[in-house]
Amino acid sequence: LRANFSVIQKETGFVNGLITVLHDITEQEKIEMERREFVANVSHELRTPLTTMRSYLEALADGAWRDEAIAPTFLNVTQTETERMIRLVNDLLQLSKMDSRDYKLNTDFVEFNKFFNRIIDRFEMSKSQNVKFIRYIPEVSYFVDIDTDKLTQVIDNIISNALKYSPDGGNIRFGFTVQDNMLKVMVSDDGMGIPKENVSRVFDRFYRVDRARSREMGGTGLGLAIAKEMIEAHGGKIWAESEEGVGTTIFFTLPYELDEAGDWE
Ligand code: ADP
Repeated sequence: LRANFSVIQKETGFVNGLITVLHDITEQEKIEMERREFVANVSHELRTPLTTMRSYLEALADGAWRDEAIAPTFLNVTQTETERMIRLVNDLLQLSKMDSRDYKLNTDFVEFNKFFNRIIDRFEMSKSQNVKFIRYIPEVSYFVDIDTDKLTQVIDNIISNALKYSPDGGNIRFGFTVQDNMLKVMVSDDGMGIPKENVSRVFDRFYRVDRARSREMGGTGLGLAIAKEMIEAHGGKIWAESEEGVGTTIFFTLPYELDEAGDWE
């Protein structure tokens, strides 16, 4: 809301009225504001790795390239920063594709139990941390009509975050249940949690609770924003519940069928 005040004054100078007009900032203005903020964020996110690379390249050009102890480290930094920029640009391209109207899902009918288990298996095989995976996957098969590439990306992102923020010896719990004719999927960790006032904002583009820490871990701040777009494109919802120092649970919902024929039991 924006308020305009006009004071009604008589010729004598006495104020005998005050008119307050409240306008809604129009939808158009809001979109324009978000667009400007988005461009500013993108510029900032690209400038940071670029300025880092410039200083390391300058040092190399100034003679550090001759130093066998330093040169590989400096080259390594420029490589890491380049990879970060590639990740960022890929994420941006994906968001821009989803923003466009001709965006289509490439759906397949799959058993969600198996699909979810396979993704969890992949992380369980390759994890290097001391984190235990606990599964609460129903025995009954549930089928979903999903774009498997996109859903894989969503779940990958949620599990990577859970691992990133898990303490040594922590557990990550995976499961799903049925609620209101939808599958309700959850991934829950024993990590540092998210402050209450920030919980809903983690799905905003470029939002991170701790910018420096997320960058250090190679994050772009776009993962959950992309996840949200993808889940909503499937007719579902995504949200987080978290308590600082206790852990975070990410939930999302998906429409489902009970068996392969698409019939209810
Ligand atoms: P990124 O991980 O690249 O920073 P995301 O969009 O995936 O971006 O997540 C946004 C932010 O949400 C993260 O920077 C982090 O602050 C917070 N977050 C996401 N998942 C968790 C989690 N499991 N535990 C604690 N904080 C989390």
